[in-house]
Amino acid sequence: MFKPPHCPNRFCASESPEIAFRFCRRGSFLRKCDGRRIPRFRCLICNRGFSSQTFRGNYRWRKPILHHSLMHLLCSKVTRRQAARILGVNRKTVERRFTLLSRIAHDFHRAQLNQSRERGGIHGVFQIDELETFEHNRRIKPVTLAVTIERHSYFILGAFAGKMGSRGQLNSQYRRRKRLIEMEEGPRRSESRRVVRKSFDLLNYYLDPKASAHLQSDKKKSYPVELKKSCWGRDIQHEVTSSRDVRDYHNALFPINHTLAMMRDGLSCLVRRSWAASKKKSGLQRHCWIWIAWRNYVRGVTNRTKTTPAQALGVSLSSFQMKEIYHWRWPMRLQARHTQGVQIP
Ligand SMILES: [Zn+2]
Repeated sequence: MFKPPHCPNRFCASESPEIAFRFCRRGSFLRKCDGRRIPRFRCLICNRGFSSQTFRGNYRWRKPILHHSLMHLLCSKVTRRQAARILGVNRKTVERRFTLLSRIAHDFHRAQLNQSRERGGIHGVFQIDELETFEHNRRIKPVTLAVTIERHSYFILGAFAGKMGSRGQLNSQYRRRKRLIEMEEGPRRSESRRVVRKSFDLLNYYLDPKASAHLQSDKKKSYPVELKKSCWGRDIQHEVTSSRDVRDYHNALFPINHTLAMMRDGLSCLVRRSWAASKKKSGLQRHCWIWIAWRNYVRGVTNRTKTTPAQALGVSLSSFQMKEIYHWRWPMRLQARHTQGVQIP
């Protein structure tokens, strides 16, 4: 029997911890897509009506089944345009679902991490590296993607996309285009340092308060500086490996190199020398969250094992199916309620 965990109305007074959420049942209706009977409820605090369907990730979508195929396609090197062709739907349909699914995947990831933080936080050896790609134009609008993982479990903590300054030695045609773009968007400054800092802030937030920050990376100079700023007051261990070393299994940075290679393989917008590069940085960022949710919570650490990276690191206690990732519409709100001791259906 479904029991609503909170009021779907974001502005309801029961959102504050002082006022308890109370509801009553109010009939039911037949769901059009499969003819099931869905119970309706009414919030006794704000008097709004809702049903169990309101909490679902596929709420109000005419073809709820499309979510599933789309999530799988987006993790399998298929572009959004091609996904629309395969599924036989409009490109805008895919685009709207992509935005929603990415938000849900990101929320799901954060909710899982928050739960593990309540249990004491994560600990392990972490690795960071930046992957280079671009939006629209490879020479004028390069983009960096800072990815942080835990070394033994291959758990991806986060990936943040940021702008990079235009490359040097542009020919006259490129210079003209660059001027036109700058007139529209302003000068392009590098956000590399900002995304690295964001990655370390995230690491510091979810790390076990008593654990030391153990990081492995290449010799980039901004890493130790930003790590010190983010993990102030923590014991810091930072090991560096030259990026010129042979990148084989014996390289200390093999896990992060392997993860970046997997991203290049699974995310259509990161495949090199293709037409699929992202048009906007935000699209790349959204696509990353969907892929990360699949990599961390659905796929096994290797092809042979069924243990997921999240299980291996102790972030979640079980593995998930793809449909469980986008099952709930607001994973973060569910998690917040969980913290307050409310039983999640
Ligand atoms: Zn309410």
